Amino acid sequence: MIAGSQGVFTPIEGCFVKKILVVDDNAVNRQLILEVLREHAECVEAVDGVEAFEKYQESADSYDLALLDIAMPRMDGIELLRQIRRYEEQRQVLPADRLPVILVTAFPDRVPEGMEEGAIDYLVKPLFSRILIVKVEEHSKKR
Ligand SMILES: [Mg+2]
Repeated sequence: MIAGSQGVFTPIEGCFVKKILVVDDNAVNRQLILEVLREHAECVEAVDGVEAFEKYQESADSYDLALLDIAMPRMDGIELLRQIRRYEEQRQVLPADRLPVILVTAFPDRVPEGMEEGAIDYLVKPLFSRILIVKVEEHSKKR
């Protein structure tokens, strides 16, 4: 699906995340996240909520984690989160198997709204690689 998706990854120790959905309309932020995470997991990237939801639906159960920017054109991260939860509901996905979603934003004012919609955590930009790794470890879906 994406270049490098067949690659060999070095999992973060004790971390079961194999596939991560990385969504951000800002290319610099997206690249920063990818640079840190793609050596540890397959990363599928999308530039807005519309593209992300399409990619997610192609193999919804294969994702272990999602990092969603909040402010994006076409569909923002919170609406994307709603769509993901709705889609899980339609497929009767058990609560324990729901996709862990971490919101990423420079403006945390909308974080409470996102947590209300079922995000498990958030990161405030600027991002730091060590914090990113720690969060991914913390919220790894055990498989
Ligand atoms: Mg943005």
